[in-house]
Amino acid sequence: MTAPPTPLDLQRRAARALVARIAFVCFDRGLTELQGGNMSVRVGDEVVTTPTMASENDGWRLAPEDMVIHDLDGGVADGDPKRVSRETRLHLRLYRAYPDVRSVFHLHLSEALAAVHRWEPGVVSDEVEPFGVPLVRIEDGLDAQTEPHDSRVEELLGLVPRADGAVSISPTHGIISVGPDAATNLRGVELLRQRLDSARVRARLAAARERGIR
Ligand SMILES: [Zn+2]
Repeated sequence: MTAPPTPLDLQRRAARALVARIAFVCFDRGLTELQGGNMSVRVGDEVVTTPTMASENDGWRLAPEDMVIHDLDGGVADGDPKRVSRETRLHLRLYRAYPDVRSVFHLHLSEALAAVHRWEPGVVSDEVEPFGVPLVRIEDGLDAQTEPHDSRVEELLGLVPRADGAVSISPTHGIISVGPDAATNLRGVELLRQRLDSARVRARLAAARERGIR
């Protein structure tokens, strides 16, 4: 006879299912692409993350058991150690630095990459408006998955309120969204995309008007 699930088993099971669902929603809504991105949530002192190659292998249709569960120091508490994503280090770093952060997404959000050169590096907005979330922007020379990049992301996200989510854009890579839960992250990224899209539409209309097109 198998033992009944413990409260920890049930908690992990729910979190695995949530991350699998969120990952597919992000892909399905065009918030990330087939080739990249990863999402995690923190439950207690554990972090449940999407596995590496989630996109290429599975087209973002992940099963709850595909998730990898980490302790905050990076050890694998449950799941396949061979499927640890390279991005996990940055997720864990942000969870350790900011206990209010309970969910981290890394997304290849094309609207953000298209817009990033409009802003100077640093804090772009420390308020929810006009972008839907507080927004920071990383310097051009900092490559993702390096210590200088990750420490700058941590530093800048420390300068803005995170209760409604907050987003950091890396010009060469994509965005990091942090928030108190996965739903807040999702909402924040959707709002950011919407605002960037409408800014692009407004800019296009203004340019057309300048050329005398009504
Ligand atoms: Zn990426």
